[in-house]
Amino acid sequence: MSLPAWLQKEYQQLLSLKESRALSHAILIIGPEGVGQEVLSSQFAIDLMCERSSNACGVCHSCELMKANTHPDFYVIDGRIESIKVDQIRTLSKKVSQKSQVGKTKVLHMMHVQNMNANASNALLKILEEPPSGTFFLLTAFQAASLLPTIRSRCLLVNVPTPNQLEVREWLELRYPEKRLDTLFWLTQQAYELAELADSGKDRFYFDFPDAFQSGMQSQSELAIFLNAVDNKNVLNYLKAVQALCHQALIFSVSNDRSAMHASLYEKMISRFGVHKLLSSYESLQALKDSLGRTNLNAPMQFKSQINKWFN
Ligand SMILES: [Zn+2]
Repeated sequence: MSLPAWLQKEYQQLLSLKESRALSHAILIIGPEGVGQEVLSSQFAIDLMCERSSNACGVCHSCELMKANTHPDFYVIDGRIESIKVDQIRTLSKKVSQKSQVGKTKVLHMMHVQNMNANASNALLKILEEPPSGTFFLLTAFQAASLLPTIRSRCLLVNVPTPNQLEVREWLELRYPEKRLDTLFWLTQQAYELAELADSGKDRFYFDFPDAFQSGMQSQSELAIFLNAVDNKNVLNYLKAVQALCHQALIFSVSNDRSAMHASLYEKMISRFGVHKLLSSYESLQALKDSLGRTNLNAPMQFKSQINKWFN
């Protein structure tokens, strides 16, 4: 799949650095969540492994192995679901210190490195300080600020720009012509976040959500119906969606843009709850979200009690 327009400039720059053999051994690609830094790094990792041309030729031995996902000199670590552990870094450190098996190049592709504890960071820093020859470190992260400054300073920084609404809309239409994913812009405007919702089938929930929420605002019994559907599996989706609606209503309270999607819902939310309550509800939902996973609290119950308190 070809890269979206907003990733092209940085991608071409990386290719030309490779072409002119001026590429730093460590590259850190940074962008907001869902903008596509992992897509860019995954594509460039394939190009890096090809030793025949600046972008992957697709036919050499290395390219064949990459396609089959069996290249012995290519290593991946992803901190997306679970944070990266120091043992993972140490194991890889041993592996990359050995001679490459196929060509001259080894690539260590590390995604979501913002999700790494201090011990793992220090272990990574050690390798970056004395990189084994022929080894490239391709890192991606959301927030550069959460990384050790010493790691950042050893990397070539590549900032992925945030695409504008029109670019995201056009890209989504091309990829999902049968869905109107731009109607979920109230939730997020990040291209790959929306693509993931569509791919996982979670988009349905969010398409219906503003109407369900509005129904819940009508009466105590409607609210009970709305909250009845919240369970352990979907409570995070509810949290995210209610928070997004609060956020949009707060924006609406300033812009008064009646052409905005769901403008009448935001108007109702403001007249019913007021700006201060929307703001404090947003914050208490955030606190609940942050505490999930850290404590054993009953998340659906906590969520329901917060909404009930808010609505009464
Ligand atoms: Zn090749």
